[in-house]
Amino acid sequence: MNAKKKLDIKIAIDGTSGSGKSTTAKIIARKLGLIPVDTGAMYRAVTLKVLRAGVPVEDEQKVVEIANNTDIDQKVINGSIRTFLDGEDVSEAIRTPEVSRWVSIVSAYPGVRRRLVELQRKIAEKGGVVLDGRDIGTVVLPDADFKFFMVASLEERARRRMKELQEKGINVSFEEVLKELKTRDEIDSSRESSPLRKAPDAIVIDTSNLTISQQVDLIISEIAKKYPEVREIAQEKNHPDMEAGQIDN
Ligand code: C5P
Repeated sequence: MNAKKKLDIKIAIDGTSGSGKSTTAKIIARKLGLIPVDTGAMYRAVTLKVLRAGVPVEDEQKVVEIANNTDIDQKVINGSIRTFLDGEDVSEAIRTPEVSRWVSIVSAYPGVRRRLVELQRKIAEKGGVVLDGRDIGTVVLPDADFKFFMVASLEERARRRMKELQEKGINVSFEEVLKELKTRDEIDSSRESSPLRKAPDAIVIDTSNLTISQQVDLIISEIAKKYPEVREIAQEKNHPDMEAGQIDN
C-alpha cells in the first residue's frame, strides 16, 4: 500500500447518541490523516434552521423545503469539526437541548435524508474519509472499507452527555438527559427511512467500559489487520493535543 492509497480508505462509524462515535471518529481522522464528517451535526443544522424559522417540525413539507434550500459545510479548525449553516458557524448552536429534542423528528423525513445523504456521499466520493452517524454503513457508504457500530449502556451514555453539557454551562438533570437519549434512540431505531441499525459486516464495539483511547486503539487494530502500515501513520500523527477531553463534540 503506498502513501496515497493509505489516504483512500472510507471508514463508517455508526451508533447511538453518546456511544463515543463522534469523538472517536475525530481522533481516528486526525491520526490517519482522513477527513472527518459528523453527519449528526448536519441533521442538527437543518433542525436549527427549522426552529429559527418558526416552522413546526411536524410540517414535513416545509421542513423538507428548508433542507433542500440549505447549504451545509464542515471544516476542521484547530482540531475541531466546525459546522456551517448557510455560511454561519453554528457549531455551538446545534448542541442545545432544544435542537437535540427535535432533531430525530426532522431527520426521520425521507426528503431531509435524501438531501443530506447526497451531500455526504459527495464529500466521501474522493475517499480518505471517516463518517460518523446512524446510517453510514447501511445507506450512505455501504461500500465503506471499514464499518464500526458503537454501543454503550443508556446510563453510561447519559452520564457522558451530562458531563458534556455541564462543561458547556448547560444545566439539565440526569433524568432529563436519560429521557431525551431514550426517546431519540427509539425514534432513530424505529423510523421507516434508514433506521439506526448495524450493517451485517460492521464490527460492534461496546464502549460502556472503554476509554476514548481504548476505542481508538481497537479501531486502529482492526484497520491494521488489513493495512499494517496504519500503525506507523497513527504514531506519526499522534500529537499531544489529541487527548480526548480536548476535542469537543
Ligand atoms: O450524532 P448526533 O447525536 O449529533 O445526531 C443527532 C441526530 O441526528 C440523531 O439522533 C439522529 O436523529 C440524526 N442522525 C441521523 N442520521 C445520521 C446522523 C444523525 O438520522 N447519519
